[in-house]
Amino acid sequence: MARNNFDVLNLVRDNVKRLKPYASARDEYNEMGDGMVFLDANENPFETSVNRYPDPQQIHLKQKLSRLKGIPVNQILLGNGSDEVLDLVFRAFCEPKQDSVITLPPTYGMYSVLANINDVGNISIKLTDTFQPNVAEILNAATANTKILFLCTPNNPTSNSFEAESVEKLIKNFNGLVVIDEAYIDFSNQQSCTTRLQDFPNLIVTQTMSKAYGMAGVRLGVCFASAQIIAIMNRIKPPYNVNELTQRRAMERLENPKMVVEEVHSILNQRAWLHQKLKEIPFIEHVFPSDANFILVKVDNANLRHKQLIDKGIVVRNRTREPLCENCLRFTVGTIEENRKLLSNLKTL
Ligand SMILES: *Cc1c(COP(=O)(O)O)cnc(C)c1O
Repeated sequence: MARNNFDVLNLVRDNVKRLKPYASARDEYNEMGDGMVFLDANENPFETSVNRYPDPQQIHLKQKLSRLKGIPVNQILLGNGSDEVLDLVFRAFCEPKQDSVITLPPTYGMYSVLANINDVGNISIKLTDTFQPNVAEILNAATANTKILFLCTPNNPTSNSFEAESVEKLIKNFNGLVVIDEAYIDFSNQQSCTTRLQDFPNLIVTQTMSKAYGMAGVRLGVCFASAQIIAIMNRIKPPYNVNELTQRRAMERLENPKMVVEEVHSILNQRAWLHQKLKEIPFIEHVFPSDANFILVKVDNANLRHKQLIDKGIVVRNRTREPLCENCLRFTVGTIEENRKLLSNLKTL
């Protein structure tokens, strides 16, 4: 079912449509070249290398990402981590106390936290026993006020990818925006949904520098969507949401994409090794296949094993209280040494 009549403006909050965005005077003049004297922003004129406000549109960084990803600059928005990007989606499209979103537990906890912060309803539809979206139930649960559907694929904490067919069915038939959280896409064989942006005007894809790119500390989230959706989000984003140091460090890292590929390759090798070895631990009942940089395992008693590992100096995530994840622990794939240490300690429990 093609959606010929989709108009994203029908989903935008009225106040966002009406508001006049904050304008930094610098925007228009920055590209006029050297020799400009900037006495407009009350900065300290003495050079510290960060005495000027950062570029609010992060144009150099976006141009670099645009070349790397093959997506036009006007279809990219950057945020203070993908958590900020996700929050902006809520704030642009969800009217507090009135609208709702759909999330699919067990999944990333921030979607429901952000729903609560923004006072937006959260309709949660559990994944199936094989950790796949229940397409019929999701579409059935949506109301006229359900603005966003969050799909995390590969999903955290279940580590699997959603079937492409289900994802496509949901994007085509859900009457709102579909946010695909691709935080772990670089660890997966699946194709990124960014390749489908031209086909679906209601699609938003988020990625992050926090996982494969090894930059959780700089806080840089990336959002890809139609130029129209990006323009709406740009209206409400804090002007200087990506600081100068982050922009510089990210640029440096992106200069050397080969290094990222090598690190991902090594993490994938370690993931395969861990997967095999974890199966040999007697109290591990199941090792779930992973499309991400972590492995979910089902153990005999998650609370006990979690505590025993902490006593050994190893912190893992206990997911036992999440739906469908009873007695499950989540292990991030670490360095070779860290993974060996995890394993040798598991053997002694
Ligand atoms: C880690 C993670 C993120 C990353 O969030 P940042 O704010 O960019 O660090 C996003 N989504 C999921 C599902 C994650 O697990």
